[in-house]
Amino acid sequence: MKQFKKVLVANRGEIAIRVFRALNELGIVTVSIYSKEDRYALFRSKADESYPLNPDKGPIDAYLDIDTIIKIALNAGVDAIHPGYGFLSENPEFVDACEQNGITFIGPSSDIMRAMGDKISSKQIAIAADVPIIPGVDHAMKSYEEAAKIADMVGYPIMLKASNGGGGRGMRIVNDPADLEKEFNEARNESKKAFGDDMIFVEKYLKGPKHIEVQVIGDNYGNVVHLFDRDCSVQRRHQKVVEYAPAFTIPDETREKIFDAAIRLCKNVGYVNAGTLEFLVDRDNNPYFIEMNPRIQVEHTVSEMVTGIDIVQAQIMVAEGYALDSEEIHIKSQEDVTCNGYSIQTRVTSEDPANNFLPDTGEMTVYRSGSGNGIRLDGGCAYVGAVVSPHYDSLLVKIISHDRTFAGAVRKSERALQEMRIRGVKTNIPFLINVLNHPTFQSGQCYTTFIEETPELFR
Ligand code: ADP
Repeated sequence: MKQFKKVLVANRGEIAIRVFRALNELGIVTVSIYSKEDRYALFRSKADESYPLNPDKGPIDAYLDIDTIIKIALNAGVDAIHPGYGFLSENPEFVDACEQNGITFIGPSSDIMRAMGDKISSKQIAIAADVPIIPGVDHAMKSYEEAAKIADMVGYPIMLKASNGGGGRGMRIVNDPADLEKEFNEARNESKKAFGDDMIFVEKYLKGPKHIEVQVIGDNYGNVVHLFDRDCSVQRRHQKVVEYAPAFTIPDETREKIFDAAIRLCKNVGYVNAGTLEFLVDRDNNPYFIEMNPRIQVEHTVSEMVTGIDIVQAQIMVAEGYALDSEEIHIKSQEDVTCNGYSIQTRVTSEDPANNFLPDTGEMTVYRSGSGNGIRLDGGCAYVGAVVSPHYDSLLVKIISHDRTFAGAVRKSERALQEMRIRGVKTNIPFLINVLNHPTFQSGQCYTTFIEETPELFR
């Protein structure tokens, strides 16, 4: 066992604070790093020590600057680095740089990350583990002619996807074969510019599926458990807006298939640490694996609420070398993981629903939080005087509710959103309230097309 004394979090905002809290509870000293643009940000002061990144790099690149981060980590004498989500969290070179400098990376090995790193290679891994994938190809296509052949085979509409796309970007729906050549060429050029290569593949476009994902955690001794599922079908432009656990409107038979597939795939690749396997479920309840995220996700919170397991602490202790069934992590077996009640996460952002969700910026002049029974807030960017800058994503605070029933969790979330007051920047709070109050949401029957097909949410 490695028993960490000091850990650096290579991230910012709410997830940095989330990880500091887990480290605090484990008695581990915390180290933050910050860009010039973040010099007044709250997360900095939540760590025991805090060090500036290269001020000349710019707001995003500062957090991607492996050399500087490793230097800070060595000078501060940390045992390990937690990457959070985004930034370097899926970068195998960063994992290697940590290990080469004697610093433990809190996450899977660089080999696993490489194998899972892009959508094409994770498809190949799924095939090897006999996990169903969406009909299409499992390699990058060289030419439009090849794409046309596959598209004819799977049938239109199809989706063109950039293998390295993420955050809802790098996907195009093609309805008409006449458009394929143009879309294919544009998709390749766009991928090259945005993601650094032109690896494009074709898969069948599923009409309004559900997005269901499984939280897993594995240790260094071959043990893997799942922490049940999350329904993340409420999306805008392929990005998640509201998430909940468990995915209670999917038939149990399908859920069991998804859990089995997730565990099988993880065991097959020897997956270590926390990860999420994402599936789309079609209207006939057939599940298809789409990708694996080898890191903590924004919506891990809802799985924590229903299982009572602190996933970030488990990540840290797995990296220290503890087995899942050790006294410290205390997950004795799969049967030991139980799902109690329902949890919903709403992402409060500084986006203006009345203005096409354009991010708003400025100083927050009023902040009053919603709280009380069954409400957890994970934030760090919302307080009086906080300056919401245009440099980073617009997430202000996550409101997570927990109740014995789904209806109760909806009511708690709605009540907390009603209590929340934010002035100075526009927020999506009214929009989130409309989602929670919608009968389709309350029945658990939202598909990924729910928001685009429901204009009354924008009122
Ligand atoms: P990203 O890595 O950008 O998040 P994902 O592959 O996870 O992309 O897909 C994000 C969302 O895009 C899915 O949750 C779903 O709503 C939609 N999507 C992706 N692939 C398909 C598909 N083949 N058919 C229909 N919708 C899809």
